[in-house]
Amino acid sequence: MGFGQRRWADRAVSLLPWALTVALALVVIARLHASHGPKAASAPSDASTLILDPHDLVAQQVVQAVGSVDHLPPDTRKAFEYTSHFSPIPAPGPDDWLHVHPEPEQSVLDYLASHPNRPEPPRAHVYVQPLGELRAERGPTTDELAAHAHAYFGLPVTVLPVRGIDALGVPSRVVDGHRQLDATAVLDVLEGELPHDAYCLIAVTLEDLYPDDQFAYVFGLARLHARVGVFSFARYHPDFFGESFAVDRNVVMRRALKVMSHELGHMFGLGHCTHLHCLMNGANHLSELDRSPMHLCPVCLRKLHLVLGFDPKGRYRGLAEHYERLGLHEEADWARQRWALLRREAGP
Ligand SMILES: [Zn+2]
Ligand SMILES: [Zn+2]
Repeated sequence: MGFGQRRWADRAVSLLPWALTVALALVVIARLHASHGPKAASAPSDASTLILDPHDLVAQQVVQAVGSVDHLPPDTRKAFEYTSHFSPIPAPGPDDWLHVHPEPEQSVLDYLASHPNRPEPPRAHVYVQPLGELRAERGPTTDELAAHAHAYFGLPVTVLPVRGIDALGVPSRVVDGHRQLDATAVLDVLEGELPHDAYCLIAVTLEDLYPDDQFAYVFGLARLHARVGVFSFARYHPDFFGESFAVDRNVVMRRALKVMSHELGHMFGLGHCTHLHCLMNGANHLSELDRSPMHLCPVCLRKLHLVLGFDPKGRYRGLAEHYERLGLHEEADWARQRWALLRREAGP
């Protein structure tokens, strides 16, 4: 699945989740008012009992999308609830992903019905393949990428030796003075060379990417079942756009880690998320990518939990330590809060 900008925006009006939420809220409010009559509806003291908070509706939608978790221990169950650590998807602007790419929701049941890959011996390793040298000033090191993939997905991660781009023999094109690699052709090459013990193989490059002639570019591209993906640091720096200012290293770090874990998420069978503000939301441009969170929403977390079987508390604790090591303090705080919440739920 792609993660980038379509060349010609499709302006078709779509039934977006936020619009649906507002519409549902209005229906519920109207029904409650009708059943209680005008007196109840006009009494301020009763108003709070009549008007459902839109967050309650989102919470209900999350419960439905997550499905049955009653059999799980309380702290694990808690990980899949909509709490104040999460927020709805911001209303999309005209250039944002959901406006341009109307997408269906993928509930946990839909996810299971798609038969996602599961890491099973011997296919239990994540491989990271640098395509061309990754210069340290352009983004995180391969060690940092590997540490993130390990903290996020829990599988062993191996970084492969750098591979020359020209030797791949994939088509390219030049747009606005930048060479772009055909990301679809890169995935075809990777698919033919998947190591026998690879759960998946993700390539990373400083070159800009495009998936086909319909798209101006993509930040990354991955296949849901074929175990291959690729992503690019090309657009993380303002100099790509001819700007002379620089951005903080953490800004570039966040962009790279989000795109990598988003593409890896696809390789665990996760579709784009339309439930909450989430790492698996599509991003049509850099500011939408910057706005998106580093974390998975409860629905996407449950999907990953079903194929990886981790302890959510332990995963959040590991992520908090990992983010702290990278100097990503906001993400570390968030993961620590999640860990603390689940630990309280687990009891003494
Ligand atoms: Zn995507
Ligand atoms: Zn999600």
